[in-house]
Amino acid sequence: RRTMSDEVNKAKEAAGGAGAKSEPTIFDHILSGKIPADIVYEDEKCMAFRDVAPQAPKHILLIPRIRIPTLDDATWEHAPLLGHLMVTAKEIAAKEGLDKGYRIVINNGVEGSQSVYHLHIHIIGGRQMGWPPG
Ligand code: IMP
Repeated sequence: RRTMSDEVNKAKEAAGGAGAKSEPTIFDHILSGKIPADIVYEDEKCMAFRDVAPQAPKHILLIPRIRIPTLDDATWEHAPLLGHLMVTAKEIAAKEGLDKGYRIVINNGVEGSQSVYHLHIHIIGGRQMGWPPG
């Protein structure tokens, strides 16, 4: 199991690399099929697959097909897409049987502990969540 400092270090490294926001990420390779993923949902706008390092019994990543590096890069033009992602997220949660609740997370930038610079929504559930998050 990864520790929090592993996550934070990974996030710092990812943001510090030259072209962190312009280089293709591992999610581009998942979208193109170059890297395999356990896909749970896809449509013309987005794709969802299981996180390779799940932090709970259910941990799914939902990503737009177009690459918006961080939530900070989203504009009002992306608002319909972001709405599509939110409604899709709750439908995936329902399909996964998370009827007792779940957590939706978007990590943004270094202090948000973002490590992959392709906007993604974490859908995490299947256990009691704590608050505040780490
Ligand atoms: P972030 O920290 O919010 O950027 O989340 C990135 C997530 O992507 C982490 O939870 C990683 O475990 C996950 N991840 C990284 N590479 C892969 C992969 O190849 N397949 C599935 N999940 C991945």
